[in-house]
Amino acid sequence: MENITASELAGFGVGTLLLCATIAAPRVDSFISASQRRSLGMCKKCGDLKMIACSKCKGVGSVKAGAPFSFNLVDDLYQSFWGDESKVRSTACPSCQGRGHFSCPDCSKSP
Ligand SMILES: [Zn+2]
Ligand SMILES: [Zn+2]
Repeated sequence: MENITASELAGFGVGTLLLCATIAAPRVDSFISASQRRSLGMCKKCGDLKMIACSKCKGVGSVKAGAPFSFNLVDDLYQSFWGDESKVRSTACPSCQGRGHFSCPDCSKSP
């Protein structure tokens, strides 16, 4: 540890600062653009709808059973055991709990 000189320490400190600045830059940028949007009084993420459509179920609120992202194995078994009138079964979207949309994270964050 005695080998580390003051200049090496300083260099390490500057390097860390530069790294932090590089990492923080995009976040600062998005923060500024977010506050700009807010000052415009309109949410660009959702267009003031206060909600964004679920990308998993395309806003429908249900997904077809057997879809790649379906985790409703129990529901599948239940439906196949009891029978289901439709061959194309659908279950509530596990991502949005069948609502088809989320409340906009930008809007819900703002006071
Ligand atoms: Zn969904
Ligand atoms: Zn919004």
